[in-house]
Parts: sequence; C-alpha cells; structure tokens
Amino acid sequence: MSAIAKMPNGTRTLKSEPRRNDADTLAQEIVEKLTYAIGKTTDAARLHDWEYATALAVRDRIIDQWLTSNRQTRESGAKRVCYLSMEFLIGRLLRDAISNLGLTEQVREALGRYGVELDLVELLEPDAALGNGGLGRLAACFMESMASLGVPGFGYGIRYEHGFFRQEIVDGAQVELPETWLQHGNPWEIERQERSFEIGFGGKVTTVDDNGKPRFVWRPAERVLAVAYDTPVIGWRGAHANTLRLWGAQALDPILLDAFNSGDHVGALLESNRAEAITRVLYPADSHQAGQELRLRQEYFFSSASLQDIIRRHLALNDDLTNLADKVAIQLNDTHPAVSVAELMRLLVDVHGMDWDAAWTVTRETFSYTNHTLLPEALETWPVQLFERLLPRQMQIIYAINAQIIQGARSERDFSGEEIAAISLIDENNGRRVRMGQLAFVGSHTVNGVSGLHTELMKETVFHDLHKLYPDRIQNKTNGVTPRRWLFQSNPGLTDLVSDAIGEGFKDDFNRLGELDRFAEDASFRERFAAVKRVNKERLATLVEERLAISLDPDAIFDIQVKRIHEYKRQFLNIIEAVALYEQIRAHPEIDWTPRVKIFAGKAAPSYVQAKQIIHLAGDVSRVINSDPAVRNLLKVVFVPNYNVSLAEIIMPAADISEQISTAGLEASGTGNMKFALNGALTIGTLDGANVEMLEHLGEENIFIFGLKADEVAERRARGVGGQEAVSEQPLLRSALDSIASGVFSPDAPGRYASLVDAVRDRDWWMIAADFRAYWDTQRQLDALWTDRARWDEISVRNTARMAWFSADRTIGEYARDIWRAGPSR
Ligand SMILES: *Cc1c(COP(=O)(O)O)cnc(C)c1O
Repeated sequence: MSAIAKMPNGTRTLKSEPRRNDADTLAQEIVEKLTYAIGKTTDAARLHDWEYATALAVRDRIIDQWLTSNRQTRESGAKRVCYLSMEFLIGRLLRDAISNLGLTEQVREALGRYGVELDLVELLEPDAALGNGGLGRLAACFMESMASLGVPGFGYGIRYEHGFFRQEIVDGAQVELPETWLQHGNPWEIERQERSFEIGFGGKVTTVDDNGKPRFVWRPAERVLAVAYDTPVIGWRGAHANTLRLWGAQALDPILLDAFNSGDHVGALLESNRAEAITRVLYPADSHQAGQELRLRQEYFFSSASLQDIIRRHLALNDDLTNLADKVAIQLNDTHPAVSVAELMRLLVDVHGMDWDAAWTVTRETFSYTNHTLLPEALETWPVQLFERLLPRQMQIIYAINAQIIQGARSERDFSGEEIAAISLIDENNGRRVRMGQLAFVGSHTVNGVSGLHTELMKETVFHDLHKLYPDRIQNKTNGVTPRRWLFQSNPGLTDLVSDAIGEGFKDDFNRLGELDRFAEDASFRERFAAVKRVNKERLATLVEERLAISLDPDAIFDIQVKRIHEYKRQFLNIIEAVALYEQIRAHPEIDWTPRVKIFAGKAAPSYVQAKQIIHLAGDVSRVINSDPAVRNLLKVVFVPNYNVSLAEIIMPAADISEQISTAGLEASGTGNMKFALNGALTIGTLDGANVEMLEHLGEENIFIFGLKADEVAERRARGVGGQEAVSEQPLLRSALDSIASGVFSPDAPGRYASLVDAVRDRDWWMIAADFRAYWDTQRQLDALWTDRARWDEISVRNTARMAWFSADRTIGEYARDIWRAGPSR
C-alpha cells in the first residue's frame, strides 16, 4: 500500500479530498504559511514574506500532484528519463507554478484581500540563474515540457550557491558581482539529507582477487558528500509533476574537532571549505571550455551522485542492473556530464560485479548525448595527467574503452592511422588530453545535434570519423521553447487575443496555434495584435526609463539583440550598422528615416576581452548617438544591463525586429530566435542554426535572411580572404569603422577599439565586413516595410501563427519517441 493510501482519514491529499482552489481557501492558506512558517502577522509581513508564504501555499498543491505522479511512475514501471545537465537556467518559478496550476486569478484575489499585489510579489523572487545561456535555458524548458507531457523525468544538476554573476556597467565596462539567490531561502526546494552519496577524488587503484578474477578497487584520497535538493516541476494544468534534483556538496566531517581543540580553528574547517567549494559557484563560461580542476570536480561530482542515485532507485525496484536501459534513459546535456560513461562502467563492473562486456552494453543502451557546439574552443578536453590524478580508476576505464573502440575500427572498418587518431578518446597532439566529446559519443546509443544544419555540420566536422564508424548514431532534434513561459506567462495580452480568435484549445494542443494564420488577413485583428505589441513596448520603455533614464518612443521600431556577447553572435556587426546609420542620418537630414531603437543586452565571460570591449562600445555609441540633437530621436541605442530570464520575459514580447545574425555555421540552434518570433517579432538573420527551420516554417516572405551561408563562410576562411577588400569597397562600412577606431565614440580613450576594428579589416574571421552590405540592405528593406503597417503586421501575425513547431513539446516528443523510447506514465 502506498503512503498516501495509508494516511488517516481527513488528511488532505489530492486523492482523498481534493484541495479547494478558491480565493478564500488560498487566502487562508497563505496566511497560515505567513503565521506558522514565517512567524509573522499580516500586519507585520513585508512583501518578501508574502512572496515566501505564497510560494509555500502554491508548493503544497504541487506536492500533492508530485506524490501522485511519483506513485504512478513507480506503479506503472514506466521508463524514467534522467536529464543530466550542468546548467538549469530556470528564472523565477512562482508565476510559472501559479499559471500552470491555473490559479492566477484566485491567487491574485487572495492576496488582493490583504492589499498585496501579485505582480509585485512575483517581482521579488530572485531568478534561479544556474546556467549561462541557451544550453541551460533549454534544460529548463525541457523540464517544464516533460512535466507538461507527463513524461516521467528527473533533472539532475548542481545546486550552485551562487548562480550566474550579476552584471553591472561601471564607466562603460562590465563588472561582475556575486549573485545570491539563496540569501532569503528557497521556498521551492526540499533538502533530503537522507538522500546523499559519497563522491571520491584522487587516491589509488588496487586489485583484489575476486574468486580467481582480478577486481579493481579504487581507494580515493578524498571523499565528499553529495546531498540532494529536490524542486518539484509542475506541468501544464497541474496534471503531472517531475523532480529537479540538484546536488549540494558537504564535507563528511563538518568540522575536524581534533584540530579545533588543539587550537587550529582554520584548519578545522579546511575540509569543509574544500568540499563545499565544489558547488559554490557556476562557471560563467559559455561556448568556451573552463579548464580548471574545480570544473572537472564539479562535473564528476554531479555525474557520480546522479548515477549512484539512479542505480539505488533501480535496485530498489529490480533484481539487478542488467535491465537498467529498459527502465532509465540518461541524456547527457553536452559533454559536461560525459565522465558519466566511465563512472557508470566503474559502478557496474567494480562495485556491482558485472562483467565488462555486459556493462558496456548496458552503458551504451542507457546513455544518449546532445552536442551543443562545434566551436573548437568550446570542445571539452582534460589533460590526462589531471584526469589521472583526480579520477585514476575512471582514467583506466577510458583507456580500456579506447582500446576496444580502436580495435574495432581497425579490424571491422580498416581505419587508417589518421582516422584512428581522429576517433581516439585521447588527443595525442596537444600534450595528451581526454576528449569528452569522443567519450560521450562512443558511450551513447544516440548522439544528437540541435538543428538540422548543426547536425549535418557535426557529421562533417567534429564527429566526421566517428560518424563513419557508427553511421546510424547521429540524429537531429531541433530545439524548442516552452510556450507556457515564453507566450502564456510572458505575453498574457497576446495569449488572450489568440484565445479570442481561435479559442482556448491551442493551450493544450499547441499545434492549433496555426489556426491563427488566416487572421493575418483580417485588418481588425491585425490592429488588435499591433495594440498588444504596443503595450508590451511601452512596458519595456518604462523599464528602460527607470533603469537607464533613457526615454524611448514606442512608435519607433524596437530592434533587439539579446543573448550572450560573443564574437560569433556578431553584436559588433549590429553596432557598426548603428554607427553607419547614425552617420547617414547626420549626412542626410532630408531623408525620411524610419525611427529605430536598437536594444542590446547580454553578459560577457569575465575573461573574454573582445566580448567585454563590445559591451563597452555599445555603451559608448549609445551615449554619443542618444545625445546628438542632429539625430532628432530617429535613432537610439540602449544597452540594458544584467540580461537574465526575467528580463527576457519582458523583452521578447516587445520586439519588432529580432537580431539572429551569427556567422553562418556557428550558432548550433539558438532559442532566443524562437521566443522572439513566437511573440510576433520579424527576424533578421543568417541561414544559421534553427533560423533555417524557421525559414521553412515561416515561408521566405516572413523572415529576413541575409549574408553568407555556412559553406561560403568555410570556403572564404579556407581561402584566407580577409576584410580589406570588402571594407574598401563599402564607404559606409569604412567610415563607420574609421569613426570607431579613431575614438569618435571614445574621446577619453581614442585607441580603445583599435584592435576590435583591425580584426575586421585584417582577418575578418567572423565575416563582419563580408556580410555588412547584405545586412545593411536588409535593414533598409525593413525600414521600408515599417511604413506599410498592414503588411508588417500581417507578417508579424504569421510569425506567431507559424511558430508552433518550435514548442519544446514537439522537441521532447521526438526525443521520447526516437531516443528515449519513453512515454507518459499516465
Ligand atoms: C533564450 C535565452 C538565451 C539563449 O539565447 P540565444 O539567442 O539563443 O543565444 C540566453 N539567455 C537567456 C536568459 C535566455 O532566456
């Protein structure tokens, strides 16, 4: 009998006595939490206390469903999907939870009785920023989508005490400040001290005799404890809940009392500090490898804890581990958890006594791996020496796997020495390093890319030779975003308008959003659609006014580029275009320029010099242009600090133009592109990542594609074509670059941007000079289109209507069907 069924009569559970969800009940329960969990009266409560109490009252309802869902999964024996990800860029949870439970109006009313505004309460919740950008946000969208589809999913990751840094701009430059999301406690998580596992590091490997066979025993020099913190994840309409299990590190001995008693007070805490350092802070490295030892410790720490947890649960319900792959699918989100391949082998062979070949079969049938980037600087490798010192047994296992793979390649496929070197798990050319991509590939039954183009390029580049060896292993799974957060919650005005037009059905079957398409031809609908956009733009303008004291005209085009700052994403191209436009407006006051606001936001990795310069430049250009009376407010440039999920939720619905202008072949998918288009923005973009699929779904008249294609970029790079010719042929570009390089925007430091500009004139690695003209022309095409508002709005409506395919529900459906072979537990 389950625990729920055994509960005494009268205990409120979803089963025995459904909870009441009216405003009266909610008000009473929120006040109960305020009183007994926080210890405040309604008079003394601060807004923060209301936020915490509301979250707790809402959480009770999630827990009801959580217990039910967990029981259903257990009883049905349904396959579980474990999503291992070093990052979950979650954002706030209160509005998400209330909205998915369908309680928005009731909670609003309940709080209203005490003069408390739900909208203000929601703003007090700190963002859970346990990720850098697209990769971590994808993991968060997938968690929500699995819960909404009823797929029994477990997210596994790290409970960073400090998430992604807070960005401030001081004297134009990015300054990184620590982020403290746990400062006031976290109402969503449940700590499970009983659910903890030992994680070893270092030490020695010995062999012991096990009935005549050698058995390897790893004796780590250092052990730390991984403790589970669970956050329930509630799906749409509250119909299913999954678990996000994040690991926190603790010392086995919190304090060394011997040392303390002998007067060594610092030494007594050393072990504890060293252990807790593992989950102290998120590495702010996006699309480049963070090569420090602590990073490898983090990766192994959460991989091993998750696998031990998966094995424990499996053995509680099954006789042995031979059928593990029938019951669990483990998805590796990028290579950060790739050490799992060696760790699962160790646990199966060394700890659970399985023989090597059987263990290898189980391992390969259990894992699948998602590749997120082709950038060479982002591909994870670890020095063999470091790996061996930290994880000696796992290193042995990697060598053994490698020998087996290479043998197979030689004997079955007659691979050459060069091909063998390419597939080897050890890179012998750069001082012997372990290649995590290769490890993840060979340890998985399926490897996927995140957009069609990216997947094809993967086959041609990083995994060229492994693809030859295993031609059926690579699949494509184009990314998606959850429409709950990125439409229903962030854009309620548009959501209501869509409901008015086509009914509520699209909320449960998102493909029906396509029914909106015919309303693109309906003038009165278009006007209402534009009115919603206008309100969203006013909301963003208010935020910019409040934070930056820059006033924006909501009637201007809002042209927005928000994402991590990276050379390949080409914010620099966008800024150069702004400068060229500025110079043209000054030179030609007689022309009827279309008013435009260029909005930027995004963080640079702290050690990424060029990215930080680009931020500095955006600020410098903004100051000069915004204060030049000759521009007559026809152009404004704004850099909004501290881009995060919550800011994105305000920005996406307010965009007229979405900038997706990466150098073709370098953006794996992009998901910002999807959020913008879903909210009716027109995309100006290159044929890169999922822009390609967006073109297919939107139709070429509804997206604005320009520039070199991926193969053309590769070809120009191979030929070593620099930027000189393109710069000299384009006066607008040349003049803009000269202005930037000569200090027009940085009179205090005229040489500040010399190297940034020289890189375009010389090597033009990112094809800024090569793509400038096409970009400029396409922007002017958009200017012209803006004056035909009926046409613009028609395209805008079609963007929303045709983006249903980019729902994460479609993506998760494909993973479940083609990779995990898992379905809903209900
Ligand atoms: C969606 C999102 C991203 C990813 O944006 P791209 O444009 O795809 O790089 C990054 N950060 C945040 C906060 C997001 O919401």
